Amino acid sequence: MVKSKILSSAEERYCYAQDAANLRNEPNLPDAVVFVETIEEVQSIVKYANSHKIPIISRGAGTNMVGACTCTQGGIVLNFSRMNKIVDFNTENMTMKVQPGVILDDIKKLAESKGLFYPPDPSSYKVSTIGGSIAQSSGGAKTFKYGTTKDYILSLTVVLADGTLMKLGSGTVKDAVGYHLNQLIIGSEGTLAIVVEAELKLIPLPDCSILVSAYFDTIESAIMGVNDIIKNRIFPSTIDFMDKNAINSVEQFYPCGLQTDKSCMLLIEVDGFKKFAEFESGMIQDILKVSGASYINVAEDETAKENIWTARRSSFAATAKLGLDVVSDDVIVPRNALLRMINGCIDICNKFNLKLCLVGHIGDGNLHPQIALNLENDEEFKSYMSAKSEIYKLALSLGGTISSEHGVGIEKLSYIEQTVGAEVLEQMKRIKLLFDPNNILNPGKIFNL
Ligand SMILES: Cc1cc2nc3c(=O)[nH]c(=O)nc-3n(C[C@H](O)[C@H](O)[C@H](O)COP(=O)(O)OP(=O)(O)OC[C@H]3O[C@@H](n4cnc5c(N)ncnc54)[C@H](O)[C@@H]3O)c2cc1C
Repeated sequence: MVKSKILSSAEERYCYAQDAANLRNEPNLPDAVVFVETIEEVQSIVKYANSHKIPIISRGAGTNMVGACTCTQGGIVLNFSRMNKIVDFNTENMTMKVQPGVILDDIKKLAESKGLFYPPDPSSYKVSTIGGSIAQSSGGAKTFKYGTTKDYILSLTVVLADGTLMKLGSGTVKDAVGYHLNQLIIGSEGTLAIVVEAELKLIPLPDCSILVSAYFDTIESAIMGVNDIIKNRIFPSTIDFMDKNAINSVEQFYPCGLQTDKSCMLLIEVDGFKKFAEFESGMIQDILKVSGASYINVAEDETAKENIWTARRSSFAATAKLGLDVVSDDVIVPRNALLRMINGCIDICNKFNLKLCLVGHIGDGNLHPQIALNLENDEEFKSYMSAKSEIYKLALSLGGTISSEHGVGIEKLSYIEQTVGAEVLEQMKRIKLLFDPNNILNPGKIFNL
C-alpha cells in the first residue's frame, strides 16, 4: 500500500485518540490509520485484520459524541475521507448513491440543486459523513416531521468482518423480501459491517420554509405551546428548544440577537407551499400567544433564518466555553413526560452543582443536556457521573430511553443492560457474533462481549 495512505507515527495516531465525546483518561491510540480509497482496499484490509484478530475502527468525521470511533483496544482506523464521491444521482427515481465519506452538506446541496431533499440534519451536518450517520442512525432537528437516517436508506453495500462484499436491500422504495438486514446495520456503530456505499431516498424539496422563534417566561408555557400546536393538527418540520442558560451562553460567545432575559425559546419551522406555510406560521403564532409566549419573531429572510439556526447549532461550542470541557447527552421521553424530564435535568444538575445548558429537539421529546465541567477534577467528574446516572434513571422511569440519536459507543455501554434488559442484550450479542465471530469490528462499543 502507498505510504501516503498510512499514518503510523505516535503524533499522527494521537489525532485519532478522541472523537467529539469528551472522555477521561482513555487509552485510545490506534496502531495505524489507513486512508482507504476503494472497496477492494477495504476488503483486503478487513480480511487481513480478521485473520490476525486486529480491531478495525471505521471513522467518518469523528463528530459522534459517545466515543464510538475511539480505539480502546488499538487496531486499524479506516479513514473514509477519501471515499467521498457521489456515485450516482437519479432525479427521476429520486435516489442518490454515495460513498461513505461524503459530507451530509454535500448531499443536501446537490439534492437541492435539482429540487430534491435529503432531510436528516444532525447539527454537525456541515462536517459529518453519511457513513457515520448511518452507523449512528443520526437524527436532527427535522426528525419531528421527516424521521431519521434509517428512513432514507434504500440499500447498503457493506464489507463483512471476513472481507465479503454484500448488498443489502434492493434499492427500491419498498422491499418485503426477507429480513431488512440494511436496517440492522443502521445504528450498529460500525460493529456489524462496514458501509462502503449507500443508496439514499430523496423527497421533493419543500417550496419554502418559515421559522418562528418564540420566547417564554416559564418552561411550562413553552411545553404547553408545543402541545397546543400539535393538538391543532399542525405538523412543523422542527420544534427545537433552548433554555435560558443555552440562550445566554450563545449570546455571550456568538452574539446573534437572542432574547437573553427569557426563560427559554422554541424554534418552530414549517415548510411546504408558500401560502400553506404562511397559514401555518400564522396559526402557530396565534396559538403560542395564547399559551403564553412573551416575544415572537418570524425570520424575515433566509439570512435571518440561518442566523437563528447557527445560534442553535453553536450551543455545544458555546457551552464548551463555560468550562474546560463539555459533555452533551441525549435522552428522550414520551412528549407528555417532557416537563418532568426538563425540570428533572435542571434539578439534578443544580443538586450536583453542574453548569447545564439544555437544548433539544423537543417535538420528539429529545433533550440534549450539555454540561460544562473540568473532567480532570475528580470531584467534578464524580458529580457528573452521579448526575448522568440520575438523568438516565429519570428518563427510563418516565418511559423514555438513554439515547435517541447519539448512540451508545463506550460512553453509555455500562447502562445498556438496565436500558434494554438482559435478554435483549444477550440477543444483540448473538447477532454481533454471527456477523463478526472474531469481534474485530469496533470491539468494545455498545456492549462488551
Ligand atoms: C456539535 C455537534 C452536534 C451534533 N448534533 C447532532 C444531532 O443533532 N443529531 C444527531 O443525531 N447527532 C448529532 N451529533 C453527533 C454526530 O455528529 C452524528 O452522529 C454524525 O452523523 C456522525 O458522523 P461522523 O462522520 O462524524 O461519524 P464518526 O463520528 O466518524 O463515526 C460514528 C460511528 O460511525 C462508524 N462509522 C463511520 N464510518 C463508517 C462506515 N463507513 N461504516 C461503518 N461504520 C462507520 C464509526 O466507527 C463510529 O462508530 C452532533 C455532534 C456534534 C459534534
